[in-house]
Amino acid sequence: MLNSYFFNNFARILANFDMTIDSTIRPELTNRDAKILQHGELEDHAAQAQQTESQRLQQQAQGVLCPSCGTVNDPEAMFCASCGTPLRMGLCPNCGSEIDPEADFCEVCHHYIKADTCSFCGARMTETEVYCHECGNPRGGIVCPVCNTLNDFAFCKQCGTPLTEEAKALSDELHKLPDYQLLSEAANELVELNMQFPYTSERDVVRDQMNQKLRERVLLLLAKDKGVVNPVVPKNESHRMSKEELEKAKEDKIKLLTEILDRMAVPPLPSPVKVRNYAMAQKPGGVRLAWVCNWKHAMHSSPCGCAKPQLGGKWVILGKKNNQEIKDDNK
Ligand SMILES: [Zn+2]
Ligand SMILES: [Zn+2]
Ligand SMILES: [Zn+2]
Ligand SMILES: [Zn+2]
Ligand SMILES: [Zn+2]
Repeated sequence: MLNSYFFNNFARILANFDMTIDSTIRPELTNRDAKILQHGELEDHAAQAQQTESQRLQQQAQGVLCPSCGTVNDPEAMFCASCGTPLRMGLCPNCGSEIDPEADFCEVCHHYIKADTCSFCGARMTETEVYCHECGNPRGGIVCPVCNTLNDFAFCKQCGTPLTEEAKALSDELHKLPDYQLLSEAANELVELNMQFPYTSERDVVRDQMNQKLRERVLLLLAKDKGVVNPVVPKNESHRMSKEELEKAKEDKIKLLTEILDRMAVPPLPSPVKVRNYAMAQKPGGVRLAWVCNWKHAMHSSPCGCAKPQLGGKWVILGKKNNQEIKDDNK
């Protein structure tokens, strides 16, 4: 009787302490227990306990090890019980690809995948609701009135047009910021530089100088005809740059744009909707940009192509020669 009572307890202790039967468990036992331990009869039970232990170890082996804190989690766990790190991949309900459990968008098939969350405002939705009760937008997406692209998110991923009331308001708000104004000014200047042609040969230089002289002579004659005593010919505004000058000017402009874009980087925010909207609202027009997310530091054509934008990110300028791969370009 006493023995079986002890053996039950022993099994319990074993289950509580992650140890096999060895000296480490003995300090936990009373003298009497230790005496029984030495007893031959115990061996069967010890073997049994060891079996239980090996079963447990096997279970542990089947469990999921947390990559960030090392906790062994339940084999079925989606997130680490200690630190919350996602432990396994989810599956895209649309194409079946493996997908991060926190992702709301599949980067393989480019579909929004959260049936219970409005993609436009982040409000909870029941699976049967076709229109969001919070913002009124349709679950199936909005077609951009400017470029006809179907969009799951509040800004057009193709042309940047705000598609909802909130997006429009946010965009108006952000465009008042001094940094945004600097940004769009610099972006326009870069567009202009990109349209300029540099001198290509010495002949170009000579031809331009001749044209300049001719222009001055004509203007002087005209002024004399009008009776101006000491006519001053205004300098020609358009100054044609050499290839090097033009490249340097573009480089400087890109540097300035990059500085402003770095300042305007979107920090991690509580919801993917917020980051997408904030980033799209501050995107300047005219220049080629890519969105670099803080999740995988992947280049997307916009945060609308990122599965986990809630970690934040920033816009980067793509130069003409820049052939860095944009992850979600082939849609
Ligand atoms: Zn963990
Ligand atoms: Zn998919
Ligand atoms: Zn909504
Ligand atoms: Zn559009
Ligand atoms: Zn991303």
